[in-house]
Amino acid sequence: MSEIKDFKSRIKPTWCPGCGNFGIWNALKAALANQNIEPHQVLIISGIGCGSKLPDYTRDNGFMTLHGRPLPIATGAHLANHDLRIVLTHGDGDGYSMGGNHFIHTIRRNIDVVDIYQNNKVYGLTKGQYSPTSDKGYISKTTLAGSIEESVNPIAIALSAGATFVSRGFSGEMKHLTWLIEQALQHKGYSLVDVFQPCVSFNKVNTYQWYQQRVYKLEDESNYDLQDLSEAFKRSKEWGDRIPIGIFYQVKGKLTYKDQVPVLRRDALVKQKLRTKVPEKIKNEFI
Ligand code: SF4
Repeated sequence: MSEIKDFKSRIKPTWCPGCGNFGIWNALKAALANQNIEPHQVLIISGIGCGSKLPDYTRDNGFMTLHGRPLPIATGAHLANHDLRIVLTHGDGDGYSMGGNHFIHTIRRNIDVVDIYQNNKVYGLTKGQYSPTSDKGYISKTTLAGSIEESVNPIAIALSAGATFVSRGFSGEMKHLTWLIEQALQHKGYSLVDVFQPCVSFNKVNTYQWYQQRVYKLEDESNYDLQDLSEAFKRSKEWGDRIPIGIFYQVKGKLTYKDQVPVLRRDALVKQKLRTKVPEKIKNEFI
């Protein structure tokens, strides 16, 4: 049995007091413990940004990669050792801008990872520039007259790329977010958990209060059908007085990438012997 305290690292977070990353961090640890996943069974991979510091603050396997590149690294790690449960934690700048290409192609390949976005709609680490998810008209140091670009809609992109688990949480709703991450951990295939994460230092628009006045839970809607793709698209466009959180779409049974590669189906690659001399020779060069 694992417990939340098992994931406690010696490193103390340097996030600003009140940062939405605390809620995501606590929800992730609670979800892992609730799912009885032990620290050695999980690998948390991040990119660059405030939220990407999370692997440092958590006791398990961790890898902070390059800006925008955690998904290809996660793909490689998963294909090498699919016995590890792989979770990504990265921000909207890292994942939807620099890593936007990887976002689409990882979904298309259906790599079995849990992809958590700390979506604060601003670049926090570099002190407040607009980000790909900033709303049109958002005023920042780099958009003094307001952003003229449409914001990225990660839920709609994930749905159109073929994701089979598409969800959104809010770090001010920790119990709900813990439940969402647990559902994602149980899902087989690529799972998106986009999280509204207030940046208390640089985003003075999308605050805790702003979200609290608007978010509602899809689970509370009567007759919401998780397998209705058209309805999921419709809800993904909802933005204004009412903003949905929860699971937008989930279908089970789609084959993952690994399921379709015979050598990976046999066992995790790291547990298999190399069968030809050439890779053995290459391998020895690295030993
Ligand atoms: Fe959190 Fe924003 Fe501070 Fe970064 S700058 S730690 S996102 S509150």
